[in-house]
Amino acid sequence: MKNNFDVIIVGAGLSGLSIAHFLGKQRPELKVAIIEKEDRPGGAIKTFKQDGFQGEWGPHGFLNNTPESRQLLRDVGLEGEVQTAPLGDFRRFICFEGKLEPLPQSPKMLLSTPLLSFAGKLRLLADLWKKPRQEDQTIGAWASYRFGREVLPMIDVAVTGTFAGDLDRLSIDAVMPGVRQLEKEAGSVLRGLKNKKKTAPGQSGLPAMINFPEGMERLIEVLAADRDNLLLSTSVHKLARDGNDWLVSTEQEVLRTKVLIMALPVNSALRLLTGLDKPPVQEVPGARIANVVMAFGAGAEVPRGFGYLAPEREGRFALGAMFSSHMFPGRCPENHVLLEALVGGRRHPERLDLPDEELIAKVYADISKLMVLPEPPVFAKVLKSVGAIPQLEMDHPALLKWRRDLEEKMPGLYLSGFGWDGIGMNDVIKSAARTVEAVAESRQADSGQAPVKPVYF
Ligand SMILES: Cc1cc2nc3c(=O)[nH]c(=O)nc-3n(C[C@H](O)[C@H](O)[C@H](O)COP(=O)(O)OP(=O)(O)OC[C@H]3O[C@@H](n4cnc5c(N)ncnc54)[C@H](O)[C@@H]3O)c2cc1C
Repeated sequence: MKNNFDVIIVGAGLSGLSIAHFLGKQRPELKVAIIEKEDRPGGAIKTFKQDGFQGEWGPHGFLNNTPESRQLLRDVGLEGEVQTAPLGDFRRFICFEGKLEPLPQSPKMLLSTPLLSFAGKLRLLADLWKKPRQEDQTIGAWASYRFGREVLPMIDVAVTGTFAGDLDRLSIDAVMPGVRQLEKEAGSVLRGLKNKKKTAPGQSGLPAMINFPEGMERLIEVLAADRDNLLLSTSVHKLARDGNDWLVSTEQEVLRTKVLIMALPVNSALRLLTGLDKPPVQEVPGARIANVVMAFGAGAEVPRGFGYLAPEREGRFALGAMFSSHMFPGRCPENHVLLEALVGGRRHPERLDLPDEELIAKVYADISKLMVLPEPPVFAKVLKSVGAIPQLEMDHPALLKWRRDLEEKMPGLYLSGFGWDGIGMNDVIKSAARTVEAVAESRQADSGQAPVKPVYF
């Protein structure tokens, strides 16, 4: 009996811990175990601290516009602890022809931006007449068909800021199912957005980016606190069916459960599931990132804002940089500024192989052309993400269909986590809440998706 559970959750990253939280709230009577292969919970979420300087290995912030995430923060008592950086107050910049330009955040800014020519601005309106293509397309092909090629650098930075991805590979249907739905229903994205505003008033206004003074790991610390059902340093290596039960093998023992929730990044889940059913792809591509944390003392002139992103065509070394100490004060000693520059991503994985000193030197050489930064930085540290950001590319819709069929064929199995229904913290918290609803009602999880994926930074 010791090894018998009602629910086993594999993975104690944000997904697994959120699922455990929502499940505990809704069905406290269930006997649940959470199995985590590492000796710490949190997965991709990990905060770095040294000598008064603070950075993130994984996520730097998430937007406060998702009800499920707000509920989670309220439940765990973190609502009063968040640091917020409202998008309306903190501008985001794009590197355009070697200079930083504010990214338009409103239709009015779009009209006056130098990022588009007059013809380019008019071309945006062609969306109103362009017949929606039914088939899936890459984000790049879709955006240039609907809005014209001039808009591509802005779309490029949007997918860099979320996926560290490549707009010529990511699937529009997988990344923005909600926008596609609006487009197909209204015959145009602009018209669809206008209709949506009419039917859902009060959802306008820009959200804020949030983190915690102690860093993103604070959320994990609180979610994992007092969990005597969390088995660390325990890796699941095999799954099997036994009648209506699931047998979950770890190096130490075999556990039995009625409900098995795989709260894992897509590739980790696929590795365990291929023994049960053949997925349409063996693995999805990933984007790894190095975060080069750099702090500067007197003399640094960093524009007020979130940070900047550079489209690929600018040919720069860094994907962009967050002005972290502007957004979230307290990440470096007073009178200093702390930047976190991102390198690598889907297009330049080889850059992560460079020695740390070279990465720091190359990032400094790149960014110091865009703003005044004294040399050398008073602090520098390279944080290489352990996991990769799953890329929702052209075969992702087929993978989602396979997941739906598998969950239907194998009752009691639920696949949630990094890269299934999106890649952001809000996406995985939302998916966790939806999974728990389905478990509580003993039905299959339907994958109603987040309408518009936000840019995280
Ligand atoms: C570099 C980077 C930057 C990011 N930036 C942002 C951002 O700014 N904003 C944002 O919203 N999101 C961001 N994200 C995404 C965010 O981190 C994820 O949405 C979220 O952390 C995913 O949580 P998860 O639990 O699904 O997956 P993970 O965090 O990967 O956790 C999965 C867990 O499962 C465990 N596991 C794997 N295999 C097994 C096994 N066989 N047995 C037992 N345990 C196993 C792993 O050890 C891990 O702890 C970023 C991600 C990365 C990598």
